[in-house]
Amino acid sequence: MPFNDPGLAIDMNFEGIEGLIGNRGVQVIHEMSMPCACITTSTTQGAVGSAKPGCTICNGKGYTYDDAVRMDGLLANLTFTRNFVQLGWVKPGDLSFAPSLHARVVSDFDKITLTTPVPVEPQIIVRGQESALTPRPAGQLADLEDLLLWEAGREFALRIKDEDGKVYRNTDHRCKGYKIIWTPGAGPAVGKTYTIKYMAFMEYIAWTTPVQRWDRDRSIGQRVMLRAAVVTQAVKQIIPPWVERVDDNAPRSDNDYTDNEIPTLRPPR
Ligand SMILES: [Zn+2]
Repeated sequence: MPFNDPGLAIDMNFEGIEGLIGNRGVQVIHEMSMPCACITTSTTQGAVGSAKPGCTICNGKGYTYDDAVRMDGLLANLTFTRNFVQLGWVKPGDLSFAPSLHARVVSDFDKITLTTPVPVEPQIIVRGQESALTPRPAGQLADLEDLLLWEAGREFALRIKDEDGKVYRNTDHRCKGYKIIWTPGAGPAVGKTYTIKYMAFMEYIAWTTPVQRWDRDRSIGQRVMLRAAVVTQAVKQIIPPWVERVDDNAPRSDNDYTDNEIPTLRPPR
């Protein structure tokens, strides 16, 4: 008797799957990605398919992320699948995400943000100046502010030390969104290099076409592959989802979180 013969009377346990997600799952923020309408469509405007560098909607990235909602699902680390890593199909840190059966569809290049802060790779920053490791988007940072690659998950960094070995304390700084904001007169002098270790909300991009799974014409949800959105070693070439969110009035401000009260998911900062 073939496995899918109804006579077997074995069925998918849909309630069990949802129960597993409820018990063992995580809550994430899902944002839809959309190509920006500034992308050139005619050869008279330049190279077809390229974004307008000065675009105020996408900041020249060509993609926007919006319509944030919270989503439940199961996250699994893919690194244990050693063959995939050795063959180069999977990079350390890649995750597999199985959204709840009730979640909306995740599509190519959508962004998934964790709602629990985790320690991220320490960042090397030149105070007040752009460097190869940290961009400084024009007009989006005040004099006392530097850019963090990840959205800070705690008000204070775990540790900050500058090139002279000086350690900075909680009274010297605070972290907010994608910024470290220095107390007047307290931070490193402009041009000094410092290292910061901090907690952040990790961001991932859906990097392969999410697979929709079916059983006898019934959806059993998606399987989505996630890759961290920031690669600090090649910061100029990555998808930089933080750029439009540096400004407090950017589309990711709290006012934008009307759906499902996302700000309440996050610990107070
Ligand atoms: Zn644009």
